[in-house]
Amino acid sequence: MFAMNGPRAEAAATTYCRQFDSSSPGAHPPGVSSRPTWRGPGRRQGPKLALTGALAAALVAALGSCGGDAGAPSRAPAAGPATSATGRTAPVVAAPVDPLTPTAGTRPDPAAAQPAEPTPARLRFLAVGDIMLSRRVAHAMREAGDLQLPFRALADQFAAVDFTFANLESPFSSRDGFGIGPAHNFNTPPSHIQGLVAHRFSVVTLANNHALDQGVAGLRFTLEHLDAHGIQHVGAGMDPAAAWQPAIVDRHGIRVGFLGASYASVNDSGRSRNPYVARLDQDKRLAAAMASLRPEVDYLAVAMHAGREYLEPVDDTQRRFARRAIDLGADVVLGSHPHVAQAVELYQGKPIFYSLGNFIFDHEPEPTRQGLMVRTTLRATAPAAAATERVTVEQMELAVVIIEGRSTPRAATDAESTAVLARIGVTDPILLPRRGDPR
Ligand SMILES: [Zn+2]
Repeated sequence: MFAMNGPRAEAAATTYCRQFDSSSPGAHPPGVSSRPTWRGPGRRQGPKLALTGALAAALVAALGSCGGDAGAPSRAPAAGPATSATGRTAPVVAAPVDPLTPTAGTRPDPAAAQPAEPTPARLRFLAVGDIMLSRRVAHAMREAGDLQLPFRALADQFAAVDFTFANLESPFSSRDGFGIGPAHNFNTPPSHIQGLVAHRFSVVTLANNHALDQGVAGLRFTLEHLDAHGIQHVGAGMDPAAAWQPAIVDRHGIRVGFLGASYASVNDSGRSRNPYVARLDQDKRLAAAMASLRPEVDYLAVAMHAGREYLEPVDDTQRRFARRAIDLGADVVLGSHPHVAQAVELYQGKPIFYSLGNFIFDHEPEPTRQGLMVRTTLRATAPAAAATERVTVEQMELAVVIIEGRSTPRAATDAESTAVLARIGVTDPILLPRRGDPR
């Protein structure tokens, strides 16, 4: 359980909520933050305002809707099935020094000097944003002859955690077609699952506006394909009950639960409705799912697919859903869909990542190539602790990734990381424990 209550939580909230303090009467009109979020040290507000204004408009114009076509492929797709990775060595993008280099196995463990005290169990997991294994990402994989290309540069990071969670924005389809459909209609060849499997992606949310890009048959195929490869999924199913079915990942005796919901189930701004995707406005289903999942897990993450594409301000739909999820017992909300990183807020002591941005995607404009990775370390408390206090968040840290080659995220340099975090109002990548708390 998140060990953050009372004054400590309030202090944290004042730090992170400053930029989206919707509780202030008349603070801003609905859906619009009145305060610029770019408040990094030494930065003027000018660039930020320019980004959320003219540049954002240009981005929207250039990119269209979710997964918009940011330019033509560099070469025409070749015919035939995806190339096997067998026998080919993929180019690995050089990873610069990462301030969040995994410490698994290297961290001095105080318990080690005291053999009488058993080492407490720990679970580490990553949460990342939008993954799209179609379109130009598929081209890059094919050109490299490496179906795991997009995962190579961060392989050490994936290996240092127990599992990774992501928003899977592109459905798999048995209609191979080499991963290329219309610009806004993703189609992932079945073989492209191997990067997810090899790099410990144990659970994904399918609650997004591309869930039905390959129709109901494509969704069914995706569900079965993930099942067959041991990857759990949330947020979509063959009926509403299945779409609201949680996933539980159990490692070292620590159980982490996931649910997912989206503003839309097809790419039509949420207008049409169907029974296949969990929706943000299904209040009763959310409450029921949370009530049954909460007692089953030590830590509960809710994935939210919402917000305005290519814009940094958080909108009211995101804020309302995320805060409601936490009021219902979520420990963290993991946002995706805007394709750019958005603000982080501590609400009731629980973090809301309004948008983690892209993780594996082919967009070109710089903000869409900057993604966030949340690394959470959960630690089991003393066995004698009450069941509801079995687990605490030992650390939560934020890492920035930069997507190269329209496909492959790498760790950001220190300078890149500082700039991106400053843009979303984060001055310390270690979000928990708070500065001044014991670390
Ligand atoms: Zn989306």
